[in-house]
Amino acid sequence: MAVNQEKSITVKTPDEIEIMHQANRIVAGVLSLLQQKMRPGLSTMQMDKWSEEYCRSHGAEPAFKGYRGFPGSLCVSINEQVVHGIPSTRVKVREGDIVSVDFGTRYQGFYGDSAVTIPVGKISKENQTLLDVTREALEQGIKQVRVGNRINDISRAVQEHAEKFGFSIVRQFVGHGIGTNLHEGPEVPNYVQKHNASPRILEGMVVAIEPMVNAGTNNVKILKDGWTVITADRRPSAHFEHSVAATAEGPLVLSRREGEI
Ligand code: MG
Ligand code: MG
Repeated sequence: MAVNQEKSITVKTPDEIEIMHQANRIVAGVLSLLQQKMRPGLSTMQMDKWSEEYCRSHGAEPAFKGYRGFPGSLCVSINEQVVHGIPSTRVKVREGDIVSVDFGTRYQGFYGDSAVTIPVGKISKENQTLLDVTREALEQGIKQVRVGNRINDISRAVQEHAEKFGFSIVRQFVGHGIGTNLHEGPEVPNYVQKHNASPRILEGMVVAIEPMVNAGTNNVKILKDGWTVITADRRPSAHFEHSVAATAEGPLVLSRREGEI
């Protein structure tokens, strides 16, 4: 693995990208399992247990468990919760909820990271649009993962798509490079940064693109548990994430789920 001149940005060899692909296939398996099992009455702790079991039985470690003291293996964020919700036996999802699940693995020294927002039963039209637009914004960002582009090209594609529908982009949390660290350079904001020189995308760079899109204001706050991020106006938020490698042939989505597109 070579270190680029730009601080803490690394590029991966094809062999390293293959290991990261395996790490992310396990993440994808966890998220697919949760999509299959999601139903009203399910506790967020049960989701956490299933995720950790699947991860360990496939030879990986849950990357979030103990990360900066996070107590769970899975981040589960319901409705107005944006990201970093803590699994609990007391929290059960209900018909009409939207549930963002974010999972990370560590496998043979490399990390995988992906997230999806899952509807519980029948959801409102507004929530369905929020989910569709956030997923599409992620796909627009993925298309920009091309050697020679800049990170700002990803940011612009994500922001333009989400804002076209009147939704807002969370700014306090951003995407990131990923490799032998869960979070490494470069930062991948979901909005255009006008005042900073944006890093070039190099062959072998792997980024986790993760738009957090709000129905209302983009302001967020953190609950007293020190983790759970919620929208300031308590309107719903959606979160989709993929780990994507920049290859000579274009973007390679490492965390793609079976049958996703
Ligand atoms: Mg994540
Ligand atoms: Mg991430």
